[in-house]
Amino acid sequence: MANDINEIIAALGQELKAPINAITSFARLLCNTDDPAKKRRYADIIQSNSNLVQSILDDMLENAGNGNVQAPAPESNHETVAIPMQQDEEDDNIGLYTSPHKDKSERPTLLVAEDNESNYFLISSLLEDDYNLLHAWNGREAVEMFSEHRPDLILMDINMPLMDGYEATRNIRQLSETVPVVAVTAYAFASDRTRIMESGFNSYVSKPINADRLIAEINRLLA
Ligand code: MN
Repeated sequence: MANDINEIIAALGQELKAPINAITSFARLLCNTDDPAKKRRYADIIQSNSNLVQSILDDMLENAGNGNVQAPAPESNHETVAIPMQQDEEDDNIGLYTSPHKDKSERPTLLVAEDNESNYFLISSLLEDDYNLLHAWNGREAVEMFSEHRPDLILMDINMPLMDGYEATRNIRQLSETVPVVAVTAYAFASDRTRIMESGFNSYVSKPINADRLIAEINRLLA
């Protein structure tokens, strides 16, 4: 059966979305930091994701050359971006960085529930200068950390082990009717958005995370 060209383009777009988003997000972070250790780390991430984009395109073009165009194999996790392991000896400059931003005690505290390490790294890189961050690795931890620390706002992944974002939000709503909870989700369908908005969340931002949209949404809800 001949592949439907629209399906191929859609699959390719899905495959490229996360690495391209990582390249643009970390390029922006690279321009905004003076910390040499952070600059190196962000540049490594940009490099890895550029390589990933290149290899996805090379595979496609090679198959096309063989008259054998196929949609890329479904990616196991579209949320994942390539983040190289950090090398310990490159950490020596981290202590020199002083944030130009608000005093720590004046910053709002955000609880970020996210089970994927590279997603959390992107979120924390975007937000760590302006907010105090708490990280929960699953929904159950999110509920516990909410009741202990009472953060000002919650960013909630939907797909997480032990307890998903829907159930965690239901539990948190019993502790607070007012704390803003933002779903951060790869879901794209209107039905998913409807379910999110009916499940106690205040709003959602979609993955891959757009830095401007995420920050605007946080500022809107904290205003
Ligand atoms: Mn997840």
